[in-house]
Amino acid sequence: MRLSEQSAAVQEAVAAARERVARLHAELPRNDLVVWTAGNVSERVAGADLFVIKPSGVSYDELTPEVMVVCTLDGAKIDDGTPGALVPSSDTAAHAYVYRHLAQIGGVVHTHSTYATAWAARGEEIPCVLTMMADEFGGPVPVGPFAIIGDDSIGRGIVETLAGSRSPAVLMRNHGPFTVGADARAAVKAAVMVEEVARTVHLSRQLGNPLPIAQGHIDSLHDRYQNVYGQGASSPKEKKA
Ligand SMILES: [Zn+2]
Repeated sequence: MRLSEQSAAVQEAVAAARERVARLHAELPRNDLVVWTAGNVSERVAGADLFVIKPSGVSYDELTPEVMVVCTLDGAKIDDGTPGALVPSSDTAAHAYVYRHLAQIGGVVHTHSTYATAWAARGEEIPCVLTMMADEFGGPVPVGPFAIIGDDSIGRGIVETLAGSRSPAVLMRNHGPFTVGADARAAVKAAVMVEEVARTVHLSRQLGNPLPIAQGHIDSLHDRYQNVYGQGASSPKEKKA
């Protein structure tokens, strides 16, 4: 598939997604979520079975819209005008799996952010002990299965774990967080938030036992935040703080 042969509408949607995804990558180092070239953001292209993702092994300083790679929902790079040597992120298969199986998801982010990954290394979900967790995650942040890169197993683990949770974040065991959202910005926000709560709950653990929040309170906080507080926001998960 050649991008230059697609409709003007698709080409415009790809250009807009490349712009957003390139800009959002700057949020990962800015929020101390990544080192070196680790971490990636992708976004589904509106009106096409395509998504835009970071190229593999390119430093954060060089992530311009022009080098963002365009893939089909099978995770294959199309003829998108970038050099052939530019290959999509090694996590592309996981992103593609999420887009194929969760129609409502328009953005996916993966990092190895320190505190969230420390919880993933221990295979323990982050308990819902903060009102901001009830707001953002609707409960604990769940742990997904151990999965090796190279086939569908990471994507499948993400989708199956999120199916049983209201959380937009999953901690893949021994690996790190994957987050999702209605668009890439919402998924980046979830990546920032999961690191924040992982850090805070970790610190609270050092001081003693964090107190659980009653399920009824979690439900009402989540409901209010997702449905009332954010009215007029750009996407269901994107709230004004
Ligand atoms: Zn990873």
